[in-house]
Amino acid sequence: MRYGFIGLGHLGAHLAASLVRAGFALTVHDLNRSAAEPLIEAGALWADSSKACAAAADAVITCLPSPAASRAVLTGENGVLEGLRAGGTWIEMSTNDQHEIEALAALAAKQGIGTLEAPVTGGVHRAASGEITVLVGGDAATFEAHRPALEAMGGQVLHMGALGKASVIKVITNMLAFIHLVAAGEALMLAKRGGLDLAQAFTAIKASSGNSFVHETESQLILNGSYNIGFTMDLACKDLGFAHQLGRELGVPLELAGMTEQIFRRGQARYGGDAWSTRIVQLLEEAVGADLRAPGFPAVLEE
Ligand code: NAD
Repeated sequence: MRYGFIGLGHLGAHLAASLVRAGFALTVHDLNRSAAEPLIEAGALWADSSKACAAAADAVITCLPSPAASRAVLTGENGVLEGLRAGGTWIEMSTNDQHEIEALAALAAKQGIGTLEAPVTGGVHRAASGEITVLVGGDAATFEAHRPALEAMGGQVLHMGALGKASVIKVITNMLAFIHLVAAGEALMLAKRGGLDLAQAFTAIKASSGNSFVHETESQLILNGSYNIGFTMDLACKDLGFAHQLGRELGVPLELAGMTEQIFRRGQARYGGDAWSTRIVQLLEEAVGADLRAPGFPAVLEE
Protein backbone atom coordinates (compact mmCIF):
# COMPACT_ATOMS: atom_id res chain seq x y z
CA MET A 1 0.00 0.00 0.00
CA ARG A 2 1.53 3.31 -1.11
CA TYR A 3 0.40 6.39 0.80
CA GLY A 4 0.32 10.08 -0.07
CA PHE A 5 0.32 12.69 2.71
CA ILE A 6 -0.82 16.29 2.19
CA GLY A 7 -0.50 18.88 4.98
CA LEU A 8 2.82 18.69 6.84
CA GLY A 9 2.12 21.20 9.61
CA HIS A 10 2.50 20.94 13.39
CA LEU A 11 0.53 17.70 13.42
CA GLY A 12 0.81 16.26 9.91
CA ALA A 13 4.62 16.24 9.80
CA HIS A 14 4.70 13.97 12.87
CA LEU A 15 2.03 11.62 11.50
CA ALA A 16 3.84 11.38 8.16
CA ALA A 17 7.15 10.73 9.96
CA SER A 18 5.56 7.78 11.79
CA LEU A 19 4.57 6.25 8.44
CA VAL A 20 8.10 6.63 7.07
CA ARG A 21 9.57 5.14 10.28
CA ALA A 22 7.25 2.16 9.93
CA GLY A 23 8.50 1.55 6.37
CA PHE A 24 5.49 2.69 4.33
CA ALA A 25 6.18 4.04 0.85
CA LEU A 26 5.19 7.70 1.24
CA THR A 27 4.84 10.64 -1.14
CA VAL A 28 4.27 14.03 0.48
CA HIS A 29 2.99 17.46 -0.52
CA ASP A 30 2.45 20.80 1.22
CA LEU A 31 2.12 24.42 0.07
CA ASN A 32 5.37 24.95 1.94
CA ARG A 33 8.05 22.65 0.52
CA SER A 34 10.46 23.22 3.38
CA ALA A 35 8.00 21.46 5.70
CA ALA A 36 8.76 18.28 3.75
CA GLU A 37 12.58 18.41 3.97
CA PRO A 38 13.02 16.22 7.10
CA LEU A 39 10.61 13.67 5.63
CA ILE A 40 12.42 13.59 2.30
CA GLU A 41 15.69 13.04 4.16
CA ALA A 42 14.02 10.15 5.98
CA GLY A 43 12.98 8.53 2.67
CA ALA A 44 9.68 10.12 1.57
CA LEU A 45 9.22 11.32 -2.01
CA TRP A 46 8.10 14.86 -2.86
CA ALA A 47 5.18 15.67 -5.20
CA ASP A 48 4.66 19.16 -6.67
CA SER A 49 0.86 19.10 -6.36
CA SER A 50 -1.93 17.28 -4.56
CA LYS A 51 -2.79 15.62 -7.87
CA ALA A 52 0.76 14.32 -8.34
CA CYS A 53 0.83 13.15 -4.73
CA ALA A 54 -2.40 11.21 -5.26
CA ALA A 55 -1.24 9.75 -8.59
CA ALA A 56 1.76 8.21 -6.82
CA ALA A 57 -0.36 6.55 -4.11
CA ASP A 58 -3.10 4.02 -3.41
CA ALA A 59 -4.45 6.13 -0.56
CA VAL A 60 -4.07 9.83 0.25
CA ILE A 61 -4.08 11.24 3.76
CA THR A 62 -4.93 14.91 4.33
CA CYS A 63 -4.13 16.88 7.49
CA LEU A 64 -5.21 20.45 6.74
CA PRO A 65 -6.16 23.56 8.72
CA SER A 66 -9.75 24.21 7.59
CA PRO A 67 -12.72 22.71 5.77
CA ALA A 68 -12.00 25.14 2.91
CA ALA A 69 -8.43 23.81 2.59
CA SER A 70 -9.64 20.19 2.59
CA ARG A 71 -12.20 20.96 -0.11
CA ALA A 72 -9.62 22.78 -2.24
CA VAL A 73 -7.03 20.01 -1.90
CA LEU A 74 -9.58 17.34 -2.74
CA THR A 75 -11.73 18.93 -5.44
CA GLY A 76 -9.68 21.89 -6.70
CA GLU A 77 -7.57 22.14 -9.83
CA ASN A 78 -4.63 19.73 -9.54
CA GLY A 79 -6.41 18.23 -6.55
CA VAL A 80 -6.51 14.71 -5.12
CA LEU A 81 -9.60 13.65 -7.09
CA GLU A 82 -7.78 14.40 -10.34
CA GLY A 83 -4.91 12.12 -9.38
CA LEU A 84 -6.24 9.24 -7.34
CA ARG A 85 -7.22 6.08 -9.26
CA ALA A 86 -10.63 4.38 -8.90
CA GLY A 87 -10.38 1.92 -6.01
CA GLY A 88 -8.16 4.32 -4.06
CA THR A 89 -8.96 5.83 -0.65
CA TRP A 90 -9.01 9.36 0.77
CA ILE A 91 -8.27 9.44 4.50
CA GLU A 92 -9.19 12.74 6.18
CA MET A 93 -7.10 13.26 9.34
CA SER A 94 -7.93 16.97 9.67
CA THR A 95 -10.55 17.87 12.24
CA ASN A 96 -13.39 18.58 9.84
CA ASP A 97 -17.14 19.09 9.89
CA GLN A 98 -19.21 15.90 9.68
CA HIS A 99 -21.42 17.15 6.84
CA GLU A 100 -18.48 18.48 4.88
CA ILE A 101 -16.73 15.10 5.05
CA GLU A 102 -19.91 13.33 3.96
CA ALA A 103 -20.33 15.74 1.03
CA LEU A 104 -16.71 15.32 -0.09
CA ALA A 105 -16.95 11.54 0.33
CA ALA A 106 -19.98 11.53 -1.98
CA LEU A 107 -17.93 13.36 -4.65
CA ALA A 108 -15.08 10.87 -4.20
CA ALA A 109 -17.48 7.92 -4.41
CA LYS A 110 -18.63 9.08 -7.86
CA GLN A 111 -15.08 8.33 -9.00
CA GLY A 112 -14.94 4.97 -7.24
CA ILE A 113 -12.81 6.38 -4.40
CA GLY A 114 -13.52 5.32 -0.82
CA THR A 115 -13.27 7.61 2.23
CA LEU A 116 -12.19 7.17 5.82
CA GLU A 117 -12.07 9.92 8.42
CA ALA A 118 -9.40 9.51 11.07
CA PRO A 119 -9.09 12.65 13.21
CA VAL A 120 -6.65 12.36 16.10
CA THR A 121 -6.54 13.55 19.69
CA GLY A 122 -3.82 13.83 22.33
CA GLY A 123 -1.54 16.62 21.09
CA VAL A 124 1.55 16.93 18.92
CA HIS A 125 3.81 15.35 21.57
CA ARG A 126 1.79 12.14 21.28
CA ALA A 127 1.80 12.36 17.49
CA ALA A 128 5.59 12.64 17.63
CA SER A 129 5.89 9.47 19.69
CA GLY A 130 3.30 7.60 17.58
CA GLU A 131 0.94 7.34 20.56
CA ILE A 132 -1.82 9.73 19.55
CA THR A 133 -5.40 8.40 19.68
CA VAL A 134 -6.97 7.89 16.25
CA LEU A 135 -10.77 8.08 15.91
CA VAL A 136 -11.97 6.37 12.75
CA GLY A 137 -15.24 6.66 10.84
CA GLY A 138 -16.05 4.68 7.72
CA ASP A 139 -16.90 1.19 6.57
CA ALA A 140 -15.23 -1.71 8.35
CA ALA A 141 -13.49 -3.18 5.28
CA THR A 142 -11.84 0.12 4.37
CA PHE A 143 -10.81 0.58 8.00
CA GLU A 144 -9.23 -2.91 8.09
CA ALA A 145 -7.36 -2.22 4.85
CA HIS A 146 -5.72 0.85 6.40
CA ARG A 147 -5.45 -0.34 9.99
CA PRO A 148 -1.67 -1.00 9.73
CA ALA A 149 -1.00 2.60 8.66
CA LEU A 150 -3.35 4.04 11.28
CA GLU A 151 -1.68 1.90 13.96
CA ALA A 152 1.74 3.08 12.79
CA MET A 153 0.65 6.69 13.43
CA GLY A 154 -1.37 6.16 16.59
CA GLY A 155 -1.65 4.41 19.93
CA GLN A 156 -5.30 3.60 20.46
CA VAL A 157 -7.13 3.34 17.13
CA LEU A 158 -10.89 3.39 17.77
CA HIS A 159 -13.45 2.62 15.06
CA MET A 160 -16.40 4.87 15.99
CA GLY A 161 -18.82 3.66 13.27
CA ALA A 162 -19.96 5.00 9.91
CA LEU A 163 -18.36 7.96 8.17
CA GLY A 164 -19.15 11.13 10.16
CA LYS A 165 -19.20 9.51 13.60
CA ALA A 166 -15.49 10.11 14.23
CA SER A 167 -15.97 13.83 13.51
CA VAL A 168 -18.73 13.97 16.10
CA ILE A 169 -16.63 12.40 18.87
CA LYS A 170 -13.58 14.47 17.87
CA VAL A 171 -15.56 17.70 18.20
CA ILE A 172 -16.84 16.50 21.59
CA THR A 173 -13.38 15.73 22.98
CA ASN A 174 -11.98 19.04 21.78
CA MET A 175 -14.92 20.89 23.29
CA LEU A 176 -14.10 19.26 26.63
CA ALA A 177 -10.40 20.04 26.28
CA PHE A 178 -11.00 23.78 25.65
CA ILE A 179 -13.40 24.02 28.59
CA HIS A 180 -10.80 22.23 30.75
CA LEU A 181 -8.10 24.63 29.60
CA VAL A 182 -10.04 27.74 30.62
CA ALA A 183 -10.91 26.03 33.91
CA ALA A 184 -7.26 25.08 34.54
CA GLY A 185 -6.23 28.73 34.11
CA GLU A 186 -8.88 29.89 36.60
CA ALA A 187 -7.83 27.18 39.07
CA LEU A 188 -4.15 28.10 38.89
CA MET A 189 -4.96 31.80 39.32
CA LEU A 190 -6.99 31.05 42.45
CA ALA A 191 -4.03 29.04 43.73
CA LYS A 192 -1.67 31.94 43.06
CA ARG A 193 -3.91 34.53 44.70
CA GLY A 194 -4.54 32.09 47.55
CA GLY A 195 -0.84 32.19 48.35
CA LEU A 196 -0.02 28.64 47.25
CA ASP A 197 3.23 27.51 45.71
CA LEU A 198 2.15 26.95 42.07
CA ALA A 199 4.31 23.87 41.54
CA GLN A 200 2.78 22.29 44.64
CA ALA A 201 -0.71 23.32 43.54
CA PHE A 202 -0.06 21.70 40.14
CA THR A 203 0.90 18.44 41.84
CA ALA A 204 -2.06 18.54 44.22
CA ILE A 205 -4.58 19.17 41.41
CA LYS A 206 -2.98 16.35 39.40
CA ALA A 207 -3.53 14.00 42.35
CA SER A 208 -7.09 15.21 42.96
CA SER A 209 -10.62 14.69 41.68
CA GLY A 210 -10.24 17.97 39.76
CA ASN A 211 -7.49 16.57 37.54
CA SER A 212 -7.76 16.45 33.74
CA PHE A 213 -5.56 15.45 30.79
CA VAL A 214 -5.38 19.15 29.92
CA HIS A 215 -4.17 20.03 33.43
CA GLU A 216 -1.52 17.29 33.29
CA THR A 217 -0.21 18.53 29.95
CA GLU A 218 -1.06 22.18 29.20
CA SER A 219 -0.83 23.47 32.76
CA GLN A 220 2.89 22.60 32.59
CA LEU A 221 3.29 24.88 29.55
CA ILE A 222 1.38 27.67 31.32
CA LEU A 223 3.62 27.39 34.37
CA ASN A 224 6.70 27.40 32.11
CA GLY A 225 5.38 30.42 30.21
CA SER A 226 6.04 28.97 26.74
CA TYR A 227 2.34 28.11 26.17
CA ASN A 228 3.74 25.99 23.31
CA ILE A 229 1.14 23.29 22.73
CA GLY A 230 1.60 23.18 18.91
CA PHE A 231 -2.08 24.06 18.37
CA THR A 232 -3.32 27.51 17.43
CA MET A 233 -6.15 29.90 18.34
CA ASP A 234 -7.48 29.60 14.78
CA LEU A 235 -7.80 25.82 15.14
CA ALA A 236 -9.46 26.16 18.57
CA CYS A 237 -12.02 28.61 17.14
CA LYS A 238 -12.65 26.29 14.19
CA ASP A 239 -13.32 23.33 16.47
CA LEU A 240 -15.46 25.27 18.97
CA GLY A 241 -17.47 26.48 15.97
CA PHE A 242 -18.09 22.84 15.02
CA ALA A 243 -19.27 22.09 18.58
CA HIS A 244 -21.57 25.09 18.57
CA GLN A 245 -23.08 24.00 15.24
CA LEU A 246 -23.53 20.44 16.47
CA GLY A 247 -25.35 21.65 19.58
CA ARG A 248 -27.73 23.69 17.44
CA GLU A 249 -28.37 20.86 15.02
CA LEU A 250 -29.01 18.34 17.76
CA GLY A 251 -30.96 20.64 20.07
CA VAL A 252 -28.45 20.39 22.92
CA PRO A 253 -27.78 23.59 24.88
CA LEU A 254 -24.00 24.01 25.20
CA GLU A 255 -23.72 26.84 27.67
CA LEU A 256 -20.15 26.18 28.79
CA ALA A 257 -18.97 25.54 25.23
CA GLY A 258 -20.70 28.73 24.05
CA MET A 259 -18.96 30.81 26.70
CA THR A 260 -15.66 29.07 25.99
CA GLU A 261 -16.00 29.78 22.27
CA GLN A 262 -16.40 33.49 23.00
CA ILE A 263 -13.35 33.45 25.29
CA PHE A 264 -11.30 31.87 22.50
CA ARG A 265 -12.59 34.42 19.99
CA ARG A 266 -11.33 37.11 22.35
CA GLY A 267 -7.99 35.32 22.59
CA GLN A 268 -7.81 35.07 18.79
CA ALA A 269 -8.51 38.81 18.45
CA ARG A 270 -6.02 39.71 21.21
CA TYR A 271 -3.06 37.47 20.29
CA GLY A 272 -3.71 36.51 16.65
CA GLY A 273 -4.89 33.33 15.00
CA ASP A 274 -1.40 31.82 14.91
CA ALA A 275 -0.88 32.20 18.68
CA TRP A 276 -0.82 28.96 20.70
CA SER A 277 -4.27 28.17 22.06
CA THR A 278 -2.82 27.74 25.56
CA ARG A 279 -2.32 31.52 25.63
CA ILE A 280 -6.04 31.77 26.34
CA VAL A 281 -4.96 31.71 29.99
CA GLN A 282 -2.96 34.88 29.39
CA LEU A 283 -6.26 36.79 29.09
CA LEU A 284 -6.85 36.03 32.77
CA GLU A 285 -3.21 36.76 33.68
CA GLU A 286 -3.57 40.20 32.06
CA ALA A 287 -6.97 40.87 33.65
CA VAL A 288 -5.69 40.03 37.12
CA GLY A 289 -2.22 41.51 36.60
CA ALA A 290 -0.39 38.39 37.75
CA ASP A 291 1.47 35.67 35.88
CA LEU A 292 1.35 31.97 36.53
CA ARG A 293 5.04 31.07 36.28
CA ALA A 294 6.72 28.43 38.41
CA PRO A 295 10.18 26.86 38.06
CA GLY A 296 10.77 23.29 36.91
CA PHE A 297 8.22 22.95 34.11
CA PRO A 298 9.16 22.14 30.48
CA ALA A 299 8.75 24.53 27.52
CA VAL A 300 7.44 21.68 25.36
CA LEU A 301 5.89 18.40 26.43
CA GLU A 302 8.11 15.35 26.34
CA GLU A 303 7.36 12.88 23.54
P1 NAD B 1 -0.98 23.58 10.62
O1 NAD B 1 -1.60 24.88 10.25
O2 NAD B 1 0.25 23.55 11.46
O3 NAD B 1 -0.64 22.74 9.29
C1 NAD B 1 -1.44 22.74 8.15
C2 NAD B 1 -0.52 22.44 6.96
O4 NAD B 1 -1.33 22.35 5.79
C3 NAD B 1 0.52 23.55 6.71
O5 NAD B 1 1.80 22.99 6.57
C4 NAD B 1 0.04 24.20 5.40
O6 NAD B 1 1.08 24.70 4.60
C5 NAD B 1 -0.66 23.02 4.74
N1 NAD B 1 -1.68 23.44 3.75
C6 NAD B 1 -2.66 24.35 3.91
N2 NAD B 1 -3.37 24.46 2.78
C7 NAD B 1 -2.80 23.61 1.88
C8 NAD B 1 -3.08 23.29 0.53
N3 NAD B 1 -4.07 23.88 -0.15
N4 NAD B 1 -2.28 22.37 -0.09
C9 NAD B 1 -1.26 21.77 0.58
N5 NAD B 1 -0.95 22.05 1.87
C10 NAD B 1 -1.72 22.96 2.50
O7 NAD B 1 -2.14 22.72 11.32
P2 NAD B 1 -1.97 21.44 12.29
O8 NAD B 1 -1.81 21.90 13.69
O9 NAD B 1 -0.97 20.50 11.69
O10 NAD B 1 -3.44 20.83 12.17
C11 NAD B 1 -3.90 20.19 11.00
C12 NAD B 1 -5.28 19.60 11.27
O11 NAD B 1 -5.19 18.65 12.34
C13 NAD B 1 -6.33 20.63 11.71
O12 NAD B 1 -7.57 20.28 11.16
C14 NAD B 1 -6.34 20.51 13.22
O13 NAD B 1 -7.56 20.90 13.78
C15 NAD B 1 -6.08 19.03 13.40
N6 NAD B 1 -5.46 18.68 14.69
C16 NAD B 1 -4.33 19.34 15.12
C17 NAD B 1 -3.75 18.96 16.33
C18 NAD B 1 -2.52 19.68 16.88
O14 NAD B 1 -2.16 19.40 18.05
N7 NAD B 1 -1.86 20.55 16.13
C19 NAD B 1 -4.30 17.93 17.10
C20 NAD B 1 -5.44 17.27 16.63
C21 NAD B 1 -6.01 17.66 15.43
